[in-house]
Amino acid sequence: MAIDGGQIIYSIVVPVYNEEAVLPVLIRRLGLLIDRLGGPAEAILVDDGSSDSSPIVLQALARSDPRFRYIGLSRNFGHQVAITAGMDAAQGEAIVVMDADLQDPPEVVEQLIAKWREGNDVVYARRLSRAGESAFKRATAHVFYRVLGRMTSVHIPADVGDFRLIDRKVLDALRQMPERDRFVRGMIAWLGFRQAEVSFHRLERAAGETKYPLFKMARLAMSAALGFSDAPLRLAIWCGLAVSGLALLYGAWVLLLWMTNDPHLVPGWSSIIVIVSLLCGLNMLMTGIVGLYVGRIHSEAKHRPLYVVQNRVGFDSDQADASYRTSRSA
Ligand code: UDP
Ligand code: MG
Repeated sequence: MAIDGGQIIYSIVVPVYNEEAVLPVLIRRLGLLIDRLGGPAEAILVDDGSSDSSPIVLQALARSDPRFRYIGLSRNFGHQVAITAGMDAAQGEAIVVMDADLQDPPEVVEQLIAKWREGNDVVYARRLSRAGESAFKRATAHVFYRVLGRMTSVHIPADVGDFRLIDRKVLDALRQMPERDRFVRGMIAWLGFRQAEVSFHRLERAAGETKYPLFKMARLAMSAALGFSDAPLRLAIWCGLAVSGLALLYGAWVLLLWMTNDPHLVPGWSSIIVIVSLLCGLNMLMTGIVGLYVGRIHSEAKHRPLYVVQNRVGFDSDQADASYRTSRSA
């Protein structure tokens, strides 16, 4: 159903960066999806500074079809910022983020919505397989999700991209996280709430080429690691302890040789090695300690809320329970 006055229930956010090849089929499939949803819905297409004809096509669409809205960013800010801009503008009760290239099939959106109607606040789509992606991309993604899982204390689901549905109250909480270096799927995992998953086979790109070259993937991985883990900072402490420990052991060994007048002992050499490696170790240890403070500053600088309230009961002026509004049972 198109938007005709009534409150919007579904917002579908799609970031678009130089996707002119795929736009005709995307627009058709999105239109069909919106019509099938059976509730007031909007599709928010965010142009992330494309240099092809995408913005022209999308603006014309938004002018002529009330189901589509258009946001044009002034330059390429990157996928994570583009989806943030789209979500900020979303008016729906359930907000779905999906890629423009139809690798995230619109049909899966209906499964996400079904889980949302069961009362879940975050429904993410897990990739069972990834067609049309290079073995290199699949392997790096596999390693990335596993390493990230070990580094972080928040459970960030593996093999899940940004294709997901979030409830309005999750979005409201997300908007209280003003961090600049954004890894949106991690931020949503950090927020908690009732989470559920739907699995799907990721298709090939409908047209065009990937807009995620290696350097952009590396940058995303870096944002994830730095934003959700301080393990790298603590690494220096462990290295420092190990190096100084080994230096002390070696020192003890040299002392023993010296006391027993061992003929293999080269005068001067051993003592220098012991001192240099001990100092090296202490240096690393101190760097690690500074790192701990830097970690604290980093976490303060992110300005994340201290906690997020899911609901409250029995407070007089409380609207929180009302966030389970009529739309879900509609
Ligand atoms: N995208 C974007 N800005 C960018 C790079 C990508 O908005 O700087 C969009 C792109 O148009 C697509 C989505 O993000 O809708 C995912 O990109 P892509 O499909 O190229 O990534 P892949 O599936 O290859 O990882
Ligand atoms: Mg893609």
